Formats: sequence, C-alpha cells, structure tokens
Amino acid sequence: MSEFISAYALRRSARWRYELIRDSRWDKCYAPVYEAVGRGRRIPLLKTLLASFCRYGCAYCALRQGMRRGAWGVERLVNATIALSQSRRIEGLFLSSTVFGDPDRVVERELEVVEKLRRRGYTGYIHLKVMPGTSRYLVERAAELADRVGVNLEAPLESAFSEVCPDKGGFREAVLKRLEWISEAAEKWRRRGERPRWGFGRAGVDTQFVVGATDEPDKTYLELTQKLYHDLKLSRVYFSGFEPIPNTPLEKRRSCPPWRELRLYQASFLIRDYGFSVEQLDEILDDFGNLPNKDPKEAYAEAHPELFPIDLNQASLRELLLIPGIGLETAKRIVAARSVQKIETYADLRRVLGRALARKIAPYVSFGEKGALRAYVG
Ligand code: SF4
Repeated sequence: MSEFISAYALRRSARWRYELIRDSRWDKCYAPVYEAVGRGRRIPLLKTLLASFCRYGCAYCALRQGMRRGAWGVERLVNATIALSQSRRIEGLFLSSTVFGDPDRVVERELEVVEKLRRRGYTGYIHLKVMPGTSRYLVERAAELADRVGVNLEAPLESAFSEVCPDKGGFREAVLKRLEWISEAAEKWRRRGERPRWGFGRAGVDTQFVVGATDEPDKTYLELTQKLYHDLKLSRVYFSGFEPIPNTPLEKRRSCPPWRELRLYQASFLIRDYGFSVEQLDEILDDFGNLPNKDPKEAYAEAHPELFPIDLNQASLRELLLIPGIGLETAKRIVAARSVQKIETYADLRRVLGRALARKIAPYVSFGEKGALRAYVG
C-alpha cells in the first residue's frame, strides 16, 4: 500500500480492511470502523493498535510475547486517518498500542501520530491510550493533544493485577499514578476556562477493566470504580468481559457472561450519575459480593419498598433518580413539567413521559397520595 491513500483507494482496498482489523480481536474491535457510543450517539472511530506485537506477557492477551507481528508506519496511519475523516467514514481516532518497546518509546510514537495529525489540521476526536509506566512529561503532552486519554487498569486489585499482568510494573505506581497525572493535566487545561475545539483532555480520562480474568467479585470492581469517579474524576470506566484465548495461560478459564459486564456498567453509572454509593449497592450483592442479573436500580428498589411510591410532584431530583427507568434527563423533564402544571393523573404522566416509560415507572410513583398511582394502574 502506498504512503498516500486516497479515500477511494481506502474503500476499495481489501488489504486496507485487513490492516485495520488485524489483531484487534483482543479488544473486540472486529470492524475497521468501530462505533463508540457517547452521550446517546454512535460515533464512528478508526480504532487501532500502533503495533500487534508485545514484549509483555499478560495472561489473557492474544498479543502476548512473540505471537504475531505487524505495525503501522506513522505516516501511513496519519494518511489513513485523514482520508477516512475526509470521506466522512470516521469522526475520530482511537489509538492504543501493544508495549513493543520501552513504554516511553511506545507513547512517543503514538504522539508522533497525534502531533502529525494536528499539524496537518486534523481537528477530529482523538482518544489515546498511554502505557503503564509512561513518563509524566509524555502523559501531559498526550493530555494536551488528545481529547480523551486513558491507561488501562485491567484488574481491580493489586494482587490480581500482578497475577495477570506480571510485566506492567506496580499497580499503584505504573497505572493508578498515571491516571492521576492525566486527570491533573486535563484539570489544568479545564481550569484555564478556554473551550478548545479539540484536544486538551476536554473529553476526560478513562480506564478499562478486564472482568473475570481473575476471581475478584463485582464489589472490588465497584469499590475501585467509585474511587476513580470520585477521587480521580474519571469520565468513563469501561468493563470488558474476559474471553479465553487459545494458547494463553488462561485458555481454560470460563468466559465472563455478557450480563455481568452489563450489570457492572449499570451499577457504575449509578455511582457516577445517580449519587449511589458502593455501600448502598452492597445491599443487593450476593454472599460472594456479586451483582444479581437484573437492573441494579430495580434490585435496589425491591430491597427498599419503604422508599416507594415516590411523589412525582414533591420529590427532589435525587429522589426521582431512585425510580427505576428514570435517568437524569427524564428527571429534569419531570421537574420542568410539574413546575408548569402538577402531574395529577396517569394521563398527565403519559403526556410527560410517553406511554412506555409511564407504564414502566407506574409501580414506583404517586401523585401526592401514597399508593394512588399503584392502585390506578393495577
Ligand atoms: S501489554 Fe499486555 S494486554 Fe497489552 S498488548 Fe501487551 S500482553 Fe497484551
């Protein structure tokens, strides 16, 4: 493939498709263009690794030491990103890498790509993953040039981290410390009060756990998630269910059921957006500290019948957020609607929220008199 890649050539080239999906299965990126979901919208991103060979030996990873070989040239990746962007196939780049050399060398190469893109006028979204153990000046440069920057934690406890990622360094120093530095750098730019069109960590900091590669229960993931959201001000914690890969040390381990990943996401959003704490969620965990396979907010409501029904005309925003099915936007809609006119009947509720949502929340709400709506909808 030539260094310059036209949009037409990109569309036609089978090799291009191969290049982009090559070795990306580790992160569930089967398609050359990955659709990230952000704020209710699907955002097509070119999601790729800078290289597909690694000198580390993480126990769950398909790319661990000596298994495959391949790498993007900086110029080629820059050209591909710009061509895909100009042909409106993508709205951004999600760039990560294997640790094919010293962590600083890897991140320097990632930054070469990002710097070249910005120099060539690329203002699209860039999500950059830096490596555990990266030096601070590179972390700060990444937070300046990219919109979102992260480093993956992989495991919720130090012991589990050393077990599955024996080469990455200390959990606290090599990973948590880097997350702290990224947060501080992004916060520094935020405090300046400017509203940049791109970069400057404006989309926040993220990390990812591999769920189920070790025996840690959901509670350990949620406890660390709470710290990450509250203390380090992360914008997103991702959960990636473990899947065994042949010829790796964990090939015989059971895969993580997809519902576990979903329930962890739901519980983490309760912590991030709904004011829930791990202590509250503790009440719905089983004896081993795992979430049940049901919406955690519904499980919490079942465990606390004394909190319901909630009066739609009197409840605070925080109380409204306790109702299963009500998110922040819907809660605000209820507050706005009742400030104009009280919600007094089920028909009013349907008018404000629509038929499906009104039906879903009906068992949990009243119009002022406890139990009134529950009786109305039977
Ligand atoms: S650092 Fe670990 S998880 Fe990342 S590519 Fe290398 S072996 Fe895989």
